[in-house]
Amino acid sequence: MKTKEIIKVVRGLAKSFRVSKGKDFRLKDVDPNNTLEFTKEADKPRAKEALASGVLALADLQDKLYAQDKWAVLLIFQAMDAAGKDGAIKHVMSGINPQGCQVFSFKSPSAEDLDHDYLWRCMKCLPNRGHIGIFNRSYYEEVLVVRVHPEFLAKQKLPPKLVGKEIWSERFEDIRNFEQYLGRNGVVVRKFFLHASKKEQKRRFLERIEDTQKNWKFSSNDAAERDFWDHYMQAYEEMIQETATKHAPWYVVPADNKWFTRVVVAAAVIDALADLDLAYPKVDDGKLKELATAKDKLLKK
Ligand code: ATP
Ligand code: MG
Repeated sequence: MKTKEIIKVVRGLAKSFRVSKGKDFRLKDVDPNNTLEFTKEADKPRAKEALASGVLALADLQDKLYAQDKWAVLLIFQAMDAAGKDGAIKHVMSGINPQGCQVFSFKSPSAEDLDHDYLWRCMKCLPNRGHIGIFNRSYYEEVLVVRVHPEFLAKQKLPPKLVGKEIWSERFEDIRNFEQYLGRNGVVVRKFFLHASKKEQKRRFLERIEDTQKNWKFSSNDAAERDFWDHYMQAYEEMIQETATKHAPWYVVPADNKWFTRVVVAAAVIDALADLDLAYPKVDDGKLKELATAKDKLLKK
């Protein structure tokens, strides 16, 4: 399939999971096991093929993004542990030119990070024009883990009179404004919440314990966070309600089936790039002359 045909197919798929207006969003309406019309056994190979075509289309679009050097694309991934962020990033970005892509993972903030406002460490990692930047976790942790565990907020060295009841709604407002600012500067923001069920997380943790090749991925701290599952889900729901906008939508992607998650993420990224009307820069008359002269010279020798 050509890029143009692929774009047509992916538009509908991406739209099914896009939240551009948060007000009426309810997490319970998204089934983590949803695979749309793809049935698990019969369509899995077809979905894999679709992903492969999607990856090729993505490479084509990224090449133009890079050549045009005007837009930047920021893809933000948030999820509970073992929901498949790393795998989605790896598979979806597998075909693209590493020169035009940057990936940053945001873990617990360092002492230097805590000496600044919370956007500081993320701002330093924003993608250059022409590039795709990926945030594996992001400033959204500030309304997720920090909200679920207020002890993190206490470590942020904020002046006490700025830490009141309104802090979360103030953070939502600041994040919305920040993303609007990015949009107005040519940074296209797309956000992904990979939504896996608590049951599937348990299955994947057990697999990490039992499969020696996956042992390294297991952390007892991750498992301990399961006790706070409902708190996290509440925080995720409110985060999406408050920060889903037309220019920086969330994609709430069913994540119990990795093959499906990856297809949806690829579709959403292609959809975002396709909206930009990317094209190779046209060369002016001066450049055309320069090319003709260079060709003559090369052919003579
Ligand atoms: P993986 O487990 O696949 O390696 P990960 O993104 O979960 O990937 P970890 O090193 O396990 O990486 O965890 C990073 C931890 O840092 C997460 O638990 C996350 O909630 C936490 N974290 C990220 N940002 C903040 C923040 N601003 N304040 C406090 N904790 C944070
Ligand atoms: Mg982890």
